[in-house]
Amino acid sequence: MSGHEPDSCKEGRSVVYVAKDFITGFLEVFGDLIITNSRSSRPVEARICPQWRVAAVQPVTPVRVTNLKGRGCLKIKASPALATGNVSRELSQEWARAIYDHHTQSDGVKYQGAHDYGDCIAIWDRAPELTVGTLLDGATQDYPLHNRDLWRRLIVAGRDVGLPVMKQDRTTCRDCREHPPI
Ligand SMILES: [Zn+2]
Repeated sequence: MSGHEPDSCKEGRSVVYVAKDFITGFLEVFGDLIITNSRSSRPVEARICPQWRVAAVQPVTPVRVTNLKGRGCLKIKASPALATGNVSRELSQEWARAIYDHHTQSDGVKYQGAHDYGDCIAIWDRAPELTVGTLLDGATQDYPLHNRDLWRRLIVAGRDVGLPVMKQDRTTCRDCREHPPI
C-alpha cells in the first residue's frame, strides 16, 4: 500500500515494507493521523488515491530475515522498542543500516507494526525478487483499494480507531498529478 513519498537513502539502498495483514499495512501508512487527530478538533481523513493498490506478494525463493520480535532485539543488543517501531525514525534507520551491514545473510527484518503490533517485514534490496501471488484459478492477488470489498474493510477499520477514510478524487490528488495513470 502506498502512502507518502519514499525517504531517500544516502547509500542508494531501497527497502520494501510488507505487512502480514491488510489492516496492519493500512495503519502503518496512516496510523500517525490517529494520534494527530486525537489532539485536534478538526480530524484529518486518510485519503486514498484511486491508483493505490494492495497485493499479496511472495519471494521467488525463501527470504531470511533478522527477527526483532520477542528476544530478537536483545540478541542484537538493541532496545526492544526497536521491534515495535517506537523509536525515532533516525534511530531505526541507523539500526537498519547496522543490521544490513553486519547480518549479511539477512534479507530484511521482521518487526511489529507501531500501531497494532501486527507482523511486518522490511525487505532489503538484496533479497530475492518479490512476485505477486496468484490464486488457484490463476487470478493475481493485486487489487485496487477503491474495490468495493476492500473499501468496506478500510471504512470499518478506520471507524474502529477513529480515523475517517475518504476516496481521494483523481483531479485533486497530488500523487495522480505527479505520477499520472498510465
Ligand atoms: Zn492519486
